[in-house]
Amino acid sequence: MVDMTFALTDEQRALKAAVYDLSKQFPPEYWRELDAKREYPEAFVNALTKAGYLAALIPHEYGGAGLGILEASLILEEINRSGGNGAACHAQMYIMGTLLRHGSEEQKRRHLPKIATGELRLQAFGVTEPNSGSDTTKLQTTAVRRGDRYVVNGQKIFISRVLQSDLMLLLARTTPLELVKKKTDGLSVFLVDIRGLKGLEVRPLRMMMNHSTNALFFDNVEIPADGLVGQEGKGFTYILDGMNAERILVASDSIGDGRWFIEKAVAYSSQRVVFGKPIGANQGVQFPIAKAHMAVEAADLMRLKAARLFDAGQPCGAEANMAKYLAAEAAWEAANACIDCHGGYGYAEEYDVERKFRETRLYRTAPVNQNLVLAYIGEHVLGLPRSY
Ligand SMILES: Cc1cc2nc3c(=O)[nH]c(=O)nc-3n(C[C@H](O)[C@H](O)[C@H](O)COP(=O)(O)OP(=O)(O)OC[C@H]3O[C@@H](n4cnc5c(N)ncnc54)[C@H](O)[C@@H]3O)c2cc1C
Repeated sequence: MVDMTFALTDEQRALKAAVYDLSKQFPPEYWRELDAKREYPEAFVNALTKAGYLAALIPHEYGGAGLGILEASLILEEINRSGGNGAACHAQMYIMGTLLRHGSEEQKRRHLPKIATGELRLQAFGVTEPNSGSDTTKLQTTAVRRGDRYVVNGQKIFISRVLQSDLMLLLARTTPLELVKKKTDGLSVFLVDIRGLKGLEVRPLRMMMNHSTNALFFDNVEIPADGLVGQEGKGFTYILDGMNAERILVASDSIGDGRWFIEKAVAYSSQRVVFGKPIGANQGVQFPIAKAHMAVEAADLMRLKAARLFDAGQPCGAEANMAKYLAAEAAWEAANACIDCHGGYGYAEEYDVERKFRETRLYRTAPVNQNLVLAYIGEHVLGLPRSY
């Protein structure tokens, strides 16, 4: 029986408190300054790594904390609840599963202990392409075997943290689409050491929020064949395998954001006096905050359910997708309630609301957009006809 009580253990509550305390050592000014300069939060990511939080999912035998997805999700929640942005480092947690489940013993022994200590960063995940977008099986980047190497050619778009990472998990086509029986066949995953990789051009993109995102161009890039993860041609199923973890972790980013917006909105509307009383006494101000709070709490329950099922090795596709959808919507509702109650001050950088507003908007689009989650629920949970 999976434990479906939603109370956290003493250890889990202590973990949350410790992550919140560490995150609070990086004040709003820290994030504001980096945001303005679009710079990576090096000091913050190093502090999290040193404390062992980014190795939460790495098993003990490889030097990690050996924790579950629930604990990993609580870590991300508290980073965002503190006013920081876990997007700088969350990928290491959700990419990890592919390496843990499908990587060879040699790959794990070579990389995981160094990732656990922070000697290596695995923060880049190269999937999206300009010509295929959400239709991943149509991606056009190719990896062709030549002896003990693969030669990679193609383009990727919106690939984050490439310049801050040592390793990238790359999805490329190893068998042309016209030669495979199923369009999901013929794609392969590679663990690539991207430090000084010849033929790889990284072009940073200035985005709406501080996200270290890039366009990538591969021109006859040679990568060692021993970077292939699992079997050639099975990469798409490996990526799909990691989707539930990714959904749960991204839901947690959103839940943390949602809680930050609610706390900020409550504090501000309790003290801001207009027309002789705190604005929070007006139902037009109070009710949107109350509604957003309920949405965040409901999303949290679905996230906990998904995480408990995941950690018990039970199917959790429906719950993980619903958690991601509900949490992204709840955070967006909370963001709007928060910016509304701040009036003009919500748009002033020094209040941080506009920064968090921009940051949380992402989770309705990436790493998977809300429409594709709805399509998953329609087709796989409700049995409706396939829409794409
Ligand atoms: C800041 C940022 C960071 C990112 N980081 C990474 C990264 O590190 N690695 C990586 O691989 N990718 C990354 N992405 C890419 C992200 O995952 C994609 O942008 C996202 O999956 C959508 O793909 P697309 O932009 O090509 O949109 P498209 O696939 O072109 O979709 C455009 C719109 O059409 C809608 N749509 C498409 N198909 C359907 C359908 N069948 N039914 C209904 N609606 C549909 C979608 O809802 C969407 O709103 C990042 C994106 C951003 C913005």
